[in-house]
Amino acid sequence: MRVECIKDGDMPTNGYIVISGDECAVIDPALDGEKFFNAAKACGCNIKYILLTHGHYDHIGGADKLSDICGADVYIHELDRELLCDPQKNASPDYSPTVCYSMVKTYKDGDVFRLGCEELTVRHTPGHTKGSSCFFCGDVVFTGDTLFADGYGRTDLYGGDHRAIYKSLMALLREVKGKRIYPGHGEERDF
Ligand SMILES: [Zn+2]
Repeated sequence: MRVECIKDGDMPTNGYIVISGDECAVIDPALDGEKFFNAAKACGCNIKYILLTHGHYDHIGGADKLSDICGADVYIHELDRELLCDPQKNASPDYSPTVCYSMVKTYKDGDVFRLGCEELTVRHTPGHTKGSSCFFCGDVVFTGDTLFADGYGRTDLYGGDHRAIYKSLMALLREVKGKRIYPGHGEERDF
């Protein structure tokens, strides 16, 4: 498995291309879907899934365009589905962008996405949003805005819950031991 990090947007947001053989998954296509399509193309792989760690605008904004170009479906946790088309819930500062016309499917805790010879397993970690989730794949974990190299996600936006993220982090910190995390912002880190 190979991981390419693509930084996009003002924050910036980390989007990832996870490659196994000639297939890849894009995790959080940030704002510019075309940028992710071109990066995947340069890696010589077909995009099988577009996976969203949660529904905030800076992680989902590129999903419509990317899905449009490559034809892959977009997946998000069932509890964050409502954030996609609602700028007030997804914290979009200028009431765009949102994901409105993509073929969106939902995942839940424990679901597995097969990619080449690898598997990406969903771990529901609510708190930053209700549907925030991490993806485990071998020795690496994509943690979205739940866990960063030196901190954790804010809980003051729609659906945020401080007690919930505390509980999620207590469990997650045990599970990421010995693994490398790739967060939604900032640097990666070995735990
Ligand atoms: Zn977020």
